[in-house]
Amino acid sequence: VNSRLAEFGTTIFAEMSALAARTGAINLGQGFPDTDGPEEIREAAVRALRDGRGNQYPLAPGIPELRLAVADHQAHRYALSYDPDTEVLVTAGATEAIAAALLALVEPGDGVIALEPYYDSYAACIAMAGGKRVPVTLRPRDGAFRLDLDELRDAVTPRTRVLLINTPHNPTGTVLTREELTAVAALAVEHDLLVISDEVYEHLVFDGAEHIPLASLPGMRERTVTIGSAGKTFSFTGWKVGWVTAPAALVTAVRSAKQFLTYVSSGPFQYAIAEALRLPDSYFEDFRADMRAKRDLLAAGLADAGFTVHRPAGTYFITTDIRPLGESDGLAFCLGLPERAGVVAVPNAVFYDNRAEGAPFVRFAFCKRIAVLEEAVARLKSLG
Ligand code: PMP
Ligand code: GLN
Repeated sequence: VNSRLAEFGTTIFAEMSALAARTGAINLGQGFPDTDGPEEIREAAVRALRDGRGNQYPLAPGIPELRLAVADHQAHRYALSYDPDTEVLVTAGATEAIAAALLALVEPGDGVIALEPYYDSYAACIAMAGGKRVPVTLRPRDGAFRLDLDELRDAVTPRTRVLLINTPHNPTGTVLTREELTAVAALAVEHDLLVISDEVYEHLVFDGAEHIPLASLPGMRERTVTIGSAGKTFSFTGWKVGWVTAPAALVTAVRSAKQFLTYVSSGPFQYAIAEALRLPDSYFEDFRADMRAKRDLLAAGLADAGFTVHRPAGTYFITTDIRPLGESDGLAFCLGLPERAGVVAVPNAVFYDNRAEGAPFVRFAFCKRIAVLEEAVARLKSLG
């Protein structure tokens, strides 16, 4: 493997799911639901397959029905208007959207600011694009991991080209506030930066927290590439359907990279997701309520077991601090956890440039059935 990729090895998610498979431990590591998305949407995929819709290469930017559904979703939820013909692009999951956006927008040597801890594909894709990653660390403050606006400002240099933002944020569960997003926007406008905004957990916000798309702030629509995912929103992580919304010039740029990565993806699933995006608001409300109950169960169980719990306002992850258990090395802790407690979790350290900063933090996914979470909680009690 080339020197740009050498530091990345195997993604932690594959590693931890393999550990779960090997040990039979409950997998609260990799973030995927253990309940599939709505049956009617699975039926829609079957119908598309049977009727011969999407069994051959779909149109390069995605099928028109799905592009229209994405545009309608952004308009309905956020009053954001995108032209489905020129300003929406369907991708092979959000993962490809991230890769294609970075490959399209970053020149070798450009600085890309990313919130740390960052989702692991960010670092790898910045490297593949030849960019320089510049982390800005979210740190615990008032019970949540928050952005330090002065640090963000200080991170911008003349070489900075892209701000890579993620809200709701994996792995911390932070939902950036209007105040934080306004500061990000002001900085982007002041320095004329492009923004890639990963909003795959847009529907998973709790306790009155509000997901505010960065593109909805003044001056931002014209410079923001927004990324969404059917994997997260409809619990079909195996389908790999994602999308980008952005002004035409940016979509054209992302498309120019995307066409040589996968060209197109999964035709029949695109038809099904076009239907999913038109589910009534009650689907999204029920989905959120279900995940909130799961969060509450796991958060209480982890606190009982002795972890410090950073209660997430969004996503389906809880970041804990293991120091109250007398531990300080999250990676070693996670490697030993299957044997000690029959549970798999993810060490946040792998999402940091400064691994020492992330060492005591460990992430647990709660997108699992209640009975599975109850069993995990019972097992984790033995740690105390
Ligand atoms: N961004 C974030 C923040 C994620 O957590 C994930 C998936 N876990 C992705 C992107 C990738 O999404 P997809 O599965 O649609 O490729
Ligand atoms: N996004 C998921 C997580 O954070 C995993 C995605 C993956 O395995 N690539 O756990």
